[in-house]
Amino acid sequence: MISGLSSREEYWFQRALEGDLSFSEARDLSSDLDLFSMGRLGARLTQIQAGEVVTYAVSYNINYSNYCAASCPICAFYVPAKLKGKTDRGYELSIDDIKKEIEKAKELGATEIHIVGGFNPYLPLEYYEEMFTTVKKFLPTVTLKALTIPEIDFIARTTGNSLREVVERMKEAGVDAHTGGGAEIFNPEIRRQITTPEKISGEKWLEDAKIIHSMGMPGNSTMTYGHVESWDDIIDHMIKLRDNQNEQLGFLSFIPLKFSYENTPLQKMGKVTRPSSGIIDLKVISMARIILGKGFRNISVYWVGMGHLVSQIALNFGGNDLVGTAFSEKIYRATSRSESSTVESLAAYVREIGRIPAERDTFYNIIRYV
Ligand code: SF4
Repeated sequence: MISGLSSREEYWFQRALEGDLSFSEARDLSSDLDLFSMGRLGARLTQIQAGEVVTYAVSYNINYSNYCAASCPICAFYVPAKLKGKTDRGYELSIDDIKKEIEKAKELGATEIHIVGGFNPYLPLEYYEEMFTTVKKFLPTVTLKALTIPEIDFIARTTGNSLREVVERMKEAGVDAHTGGGAEIFNPEIRRQITTPEKISGEKWLEDAKIIHSMGMPGNSTMTYGHVESWDDIIDHMIKLRDNQNEQLGFLSFIPLKFSYENTPLQKMGKVTRPSSGIIDLKVISMARIILGKGFRNISVYWVGMGHLVSQIALNFGGNDLVGTAFSEKIYRATSRSESSTVESLAAYVREIGRIPAERDTFYNIIRYV
């Protein structure tokens, strides 16, 4: 018996180590073990897979446009694309604006630029190419992580290119990784309630991920939780990601995104009236570590959504990464959260829980211990 684990915990620990929990086993595990048992398992597995180090990237976000052809009920960021020219709430950054953002990123010492925006039907593929080449021209040493998988798919559809052509051109323009966003929840019934048809299905997201990864462009994976999904939907989502990774390697990490409900249509419709509890947040992190297995060394705790205090506990329940500094982030900000952090304060949060902070690059290689 492993010291400190009960016989039930030990059984599930061994099954988790094998890395192939089925949907019904994951369900049984989550009703068999209480939160603290799950946390203990998550912590043990983290120690084996990722050690004592907690990483984060010095990341600068650029949100190039908030016009969007979709109108997802989970989103507070978008302005309907059809209102372009009729409202002053929408924006599109010009290349000069991008250059100004690059200057700010340079001053903050960013090693990664993270670019996402709405589904803007007015922008040609050349706009994206120029944006990416401009970033790389003025910041040649940064890693460029750009666009969610549904955004790439949308650009392909609206510009009349195949997904492969868009990815090829992104790579030529300097994009090193995709962001992994837009996965939301794969269950089609839940997806129908939180997105609109302009956003690809969960099945297509997974198919596109495999194509993009096979072309040598890795990226993160995500899940948005804390809205109208059930625990079964969360388990299903994680198992689909694990199986996808086993078929075609390419995910660098898993980042569960706590739904930030303020100002969203889901809040206005009265469908979500409070954020997920800290208990759910911690359970999600532990279950991610338990279900995703060896193919996902990195389970990220997105402190912008979870807050610093719950994030610190989450790092002891299965997390080994804090994502990044989120300088200039606008999407969570649209929901009334305004969080960014200095490198020093993130390092301090990690030290407070007895772990070792380290800055990493986009590919989770350690740049330096802090
Ligand atoms: S979540 Fe993305 S695709 Fe959906 S409305 Fe917001 S910006 Fe558009």
